Amino acid sequence: IFNFSAGPAALPLAVLEQVQSEMLEWNGTGASVMEVSHRGAPFMQAAAQAEQDLRDLMHIPDNYKVLFLQGGATSQFSAIPLNLKHLGGSADYAHTGHWSKKAIADAKRFIDVNVVCDTSEEGYKHVPAESSWALSDDSAYLHITPNETIAGVEFDWLPDVNVPICADLSSTILSRPIDVAKYGIIYAGAQKNIGPAGLTIVIVRDDLIGHFPDDAPRLMDYQVMAESDSMNNTPPTFAWYLAGKVFAWLKSNGGVEAVAEVNRAKAEKLYSYIDGSDGFYTNPVAVDSRSWMNVPFILANSDLDAEFLAGSHDAGLHALKGHRSVGGMRASIYNAMPMAGIDSLLDFMDQFKAKHR
Ligand code: PLP
Repeated sequence: IFNFSAGPAALPLAVLEQVQSEMLEWNGTGASVMEVSHRGAPFMQAAAQAEQDLRDLMHIPDNYKVLFLQGGATSQFSAIPLNLKHLGGSADYAHTGHWSKKAIADAKRFIDVNVVCDTSEEGYKHVPAESSWALSDDSAYLHITPNETIAGVEFDWLPDVNVPICADLSSTILSRPIDVAKYGIIYAGAQKNIGPAGLTIVIVRDDLIGHFPDDAPRLMDYQVMAESDSMNNTPPTFAWYLAGKVFAWLKSNGGVEAVAEVNRAKAEKLYSYIDGSDGFYTNPVAVDSRSWMNVPFILANSDLDAEFLAGSHDAGLHALKGHRSVGGMRASIYNAMPMAGIDSLLDFMDQFKAKHR
């Protein structure tokens, strides 16, 4: 089975097999990892190793804290303005997709938002060039969503600004190298390229911590979570442990640099097949804004959608239904998707096209 779910998404098979073998006996504890204290040495060691492996994979500088939190990426839509609003009266937000729209709506409850670009009218089909962004002079920070999971719109460049850049990397973290030092805050829900749902990674520069309002929920205060090594309260232990396994798997497979080459090749193969299908399949996104991770495609004849989905499922290609706002199909091809999954998908797409041409 190849699982193309947008999230929670497929995990590497080798990781799942290892986890399965540790379910009844983990690390000499006589229990599974879910049944031991987060304060005990076995879990503390696994937690620290996971953080170190993530630091190694992303080359995270020492002046950044790495937090393992709950609440999902959505919790950060509020945590970011709360933690950073002391830096200015307003914040800049790029509106490039459904998730940035939600981030903006939540931020507005805590800070004035200046929307620097907005592609909602066109249905999120490209990322406008930086030269057209209406950046403000006095913003506290700039928020971006480099990969929009629903529309499959991605940009890998960073605008040239003097304020901290806060990036929602939920669906692109660890898919290609990035320079962490160029960001103020990076955050990601785990359930795509990291591990199970329930864990949220926040990578935050030291100097942005420590100015949290007294009247806001304490668990959103990066200082509280940093000072307690993300253990102010019970952390999501199973998800943290499993994320550690994924980080170790990625390291042993050449790290982010190596997986980026595979990701590029997977995406290129899929897009080039779609573009060469004489309009039978189309991807609605501008070529320079296409995501490596989420590839929507639409059938010229949408009456065939149900047959495509049933047939692909029978062929072992699961969770290809597109998001309801885009329609058609979406293949999410995160790190755990091997090239063999793309090859199987293309075989099916080609047979389906031949049948219906
Ligand atoms: N941001 C992006 C880019 C996403 O893809 C998602 C979920 O799919 C979210 C935020 C919301 O994440 P969560 O469900 O962890 O709150």
